[in-house]
Amino acid sequence: MQQVTHFPGGRETRILLTSVFGPYAQDDAYGSRAINPMELYHNQVTRVQGGFSLRMFHRSFGLMMIQANIDAPCTLLDFPSQDRFMEEIQENDYDVIGIGAIIPNMGKVKRMCELIRQHRPGARIVVGGHIASKGDLLQTIDADDIVRGDGIRWFRRFLGEDEDAAVRHPAVLSGFGARVMGVGLGQRPGGTAAILIPSVGCPVGCNFCSTSALFGGKGHFMNFFETGDELFAVMSSIAEELKTHSFFVLDENFLLHKKRALRLLELMEAHQKSWALYVFSSARVLESYTIDQLVGLGISWVWMGLEGENSDYKKLKGVDTHALVDRLHSHGIRVLGSSIIGLDDHSPANIDAVINHAVSHDTVFHQFMLYMPNPGTPLYESHRREGTLLSEDEYPAADAHGQHRFSYRHKNFRNGEEEHVLLKAFRRDFEINGPSLARLIDVTLKGWRRHQNHAEHRVRDRFSREVFPLRSTYAGAIWAMRKWYRNNGRLNGKMDVLLKAIYAEFGWKTRMVAPLIGRYVYRSLKKEEARLAGGWTYEPVCTRENNAAAMALESRKPSGVKVPVKKVTWVSGSPVPAMAKSA
Ligand code: SF4
Repeated sequence: MQQVTHFPGGRETRILLTSVFGPYAQDDAYGSRAINPMELYHNQVTRVQGGFSLRMFHRSFGLMMIQANIDAPCTLLDFPSQDRFMEEIQENDYDVIGIGAIIPNMGKVKRMCELIRQHRPGARIVVGGHIASKGDLLQTIDADDIVRGDGIRWFRRFLGEDEDAAVRHPAVLSGFGARVMGVGLGQRPGGTAAILIPSVGCPVGCNFCSTSALFGGKGHFMNFFETGDELFAVMSSIAEELKTHSFFVLDENFLLHKKRALRLLELMEAHQKSWALYVFSSARVLESYTIDQLVGLGISWVWMGLEGENSDYKKLKGVDTHALVDRLHSHGIRVLGSSIIGLDDHSPANIDAVINHAVSHDTVFHQFMLYMPNPGTPLYESHRREGTLLSEDEYPAADAHGQHRFSYRHKNFRNGEEEHVLLKAFRRDFEINGPSLARLIDVTLKGWRRHQNHAEHRVRDRFSREVFPLRSTYAGAIWAMRKWYRNNGRLNGKMDVLLKAIYAEFGWKTRMVAPLIGRYVYRSLKKEEARLAGGWTYEPVCTRENNAAAMALESRKPSGVKVPVKKVTWVSGSPVPAMAKSA
């Protein structure tokens, strides 16, 4: 546990938590990068899929968790512009300003610290998130405290609140502003998954994994909700509050906590919960469950590291990843495979085989990332010892996002050729396997065919909900894709087969409606492609939210703030355990 000095104001302390300022999807002096927009899928998964790319924003969930778990008045400002941030700190008398950031945001955090010293000189500056792993951070930025790891416990101790009090989980949707093929996906009630954060960290401790390292590395993790019962209670409350049936489980290796997951399954069965879970899981952990257990738990989507053929990671030992992906897909479980470019044994001579191996999995989505030694990881330490890291003059922090260049001298790749290789991987996956949306629709149909008559009503309900858009909008999307690929025999044929399968399954109504929707989607796609070709980018809207204490405080103020204030809700869970050590 880091040394934390109590803040004298305690529960009267006025706190601002903020993400770094935008705009994000541009190249600028503060470290924004056009190739690294604030869109998780577009910046590292569907990067080259043009109008087919899944565009979506995600809130700063770490800051939301902290806000939900302190009693002092706390305001959260997400995605401000620099001007909006300045206005916020000029107009409000904050005692503490906390900034959450990743390492590429270094220039922005530096600038925000300068602005705070200038406009709110009495405020204490606290910086956390992945940026805290950078050991020499205080040589670059003018902050008072750097918080590495668990921000909830740190803030509670800092404010003199009960560190061991139950964790409250914010009830919040996992994404916003989603669009694909030029069509906004809206936010109909129940249509977007809620975010769920049962644990942080991962005890597997792969040498490159920043998230594992941030929460203690190999052998360590932290549960916010220790048991299946606690998790079930929290999920029930969130589902009720947001009227949702699905959860995006932001836990590095959710299924690793098997006792908790299987108890959750029992409770879902006993209470007839038809939830869908989108999870991260390592391959061997997935294989430790039966397919009935995965289907019963509602595992509908899994983000899984494939890393690379012959990579020496324990989590992949003895796993036939092709067979695993096929098996999951055949049960309607959509796989996002993640592969690394630039492992030590990769070279220009073998990289095509590496890419072909990854692409041959035909996962629904495929993330490719450069093999990067981020501060705090064992990989970073080994490069530091060997003296192979590039200096900050050679390699700005803003480029350390894994989609551009190596931050070290790779023994086989030189002169920035890695970005070319990375793009080649993305492009090959797109050319061979087609748009991810089509793959998602294909796997959804497989799941429906297999489980539409499942013995459990709640499981049938889930597949029925998931397949519902295939009767109309998704059928229209495939119709539009078939037309889009009319000069590409292979992908046109693939879309044709899929569309016919959808028609065969859902009959004449779908056959009638698909061309009508398809024409609209096709026109939207053409417009989107033209917009993107003209340099169009997307930015998240700024949100400002108060907890109850901050709301009470502001209601007594004579003049209001300019951005509408939203109240946040959260639900109670368990006491916070100390950092746990895995078996
Ligand atoms: S299994 Fe995944 S989450 Fe766990 S340490 Fe390895 S890369 Fe990180």
